[in-house]
Amino acid sequence: MKDKPQRMSTLPSGSDIHLPWHLRLPGSLERDFSEYFRNSVASVAPWAAGVLVVLLVLALATEFHISPQDAAHTWRPRLLCIMLAVATAVAARREEWRRFLMPACLALSFAIALTGDWMGLTVRHPLASSLFLQTPLAILMMCVLLRVPFYWASASSVIMIAVLALCFFATDRVDPDQALVLLLLSLASASMSLFGQYIYERLLRQHFLSEHVLFQHRDELHSANRMLESQATVDGLTGCLNRRGMEARLNEVLHGFVRGGGEERVTLLLFDIDFFKQYNDTYGHLAGDECLKTVASIPRSMAQGNKDFVARYGGEEFVVVLADTSLKDALVFAERMRTRIEQLGLPHTGSRISQVVTISVGVACVGGGTRDTLSLIKCADEALYQAKGAGRNRAAYMNPEGRVVTL
Ligand code: GH3
Ligand code: MG
Ligand code: MG
Repeated sequence: MKDKPQRMSTLPSGSDIHLPWHLRLPGSLERDFSEYFRNSVASVAPWAAGVLVVLLVLALATEFHISPQDAAHTWRPRLLCIMLAVATAVAARREEWRRFLMPACLALSFAIALTGDWMGLTVRHPLASSLFLQTPLAILMMCVLLRVPFYWASASSVIMIAVLALCFFATDRVDPDQALVLLLLSLASASMSLFGQYIYERLLRQHFLSEHVLFQHRDELHSANRMLESQATVDGLTGCLNRRGMEARLNEVLHGFVRGGGEERVTLLLFDIDFFKQYNDTYGHLAGDECLKTVASIPRSMAQGNKDFVARYGGEEFVVVLADTSLKDALVFAERMRTRIEQLGLPHTGSRISQVVTISVGVACVGGGTRDTLSLIKCADEALYQAKGAGRNRAAYMNPEGRVVTL
């Protein structure tokens, strides 16, 4: 019998968040969306302004062609609209002026509608009533070209149509039937444009929510990755790098050394706690863990260089890498570290060489055939072995000729 396909638990994508009919998002999300919306308008506004400038210039040219004396009257409002279109484009392109973008879009829309009304009332030409068509055109432009937010666009459309109706009411130059047709045309244009704008804004808000959720997932993923990475390279007990972390860091340091081709200044110290098995047997495993932490804190407090680091190589063996230190200085470091650990005075009655916890250290340095992680650790291990053999609680090093010298 076939197994039923397992349903994967899906992460929220943003499209599963319900948008209310009035479109408003809660609190800070609404503020973020306003900026998102403005930026989306800013990307199209310069093109929209360009289209408007072309149309306004065409209108002016047509007016000059049909009636030059009327065009002498209409060029000023046309110029005002052109200037506002340019200002809108500038506000869209300049980051620091972007907060003026919506007011600029609204000013431009009102300028087109109101100058149309004014010209319709003052121009004497028989075709002058067609200038009232600028109101429906301004509403269309506001919603389709400039994409002013739905609520702003709705309120502005109502005001523009109301002003148009007032103009018709105040003048007897437009006959009532014509006025009715123009008003109905404006209403039809406004309702279709606003419907389109509502749908557009709804989709944009949905898109914004999806992106928002996606960014949240991405951030969570990043921090989880960082945590996993640190867990994979850091030793949980002592806080030092673990062996894996050590190999990566040491490879990095050695790679830099080979590229630099400079002096032999990368040294590696491998140290091991003396008679630690007996320590565990005497004081218990938990006390052994505490001892490991305390011992590790000494080299950690001493390794100051940028690239220096301490790692737990395994069990009670630690590695200290001094990235810009000569063999001579590294030996001073090793001796100081050994003394400080001894001076901690951690009681160790099971030790056969002291009453306190001590360490033995093996030191090796890059040079000759010792240029990679493995051979460096091998040399330090060889030196450590000799330090143990020579009675423990001491340091030994491998000199550049490959001979181990015990201090
Ligand atoms: P030597 O002086 O030769 O190093 O003697 P030693 O007893 O230290 O010998 P060895 O290195 O073989 O012993 C290591 C001991 O360290 C064995 C193990 O029980 C103990 N050990 C390893 N890892 C841990 C740890 O995480 N916690 C504790 N408490 N003990 C550990
Ligand atoms: Mg040991
Ligand atoms: Mg050991």
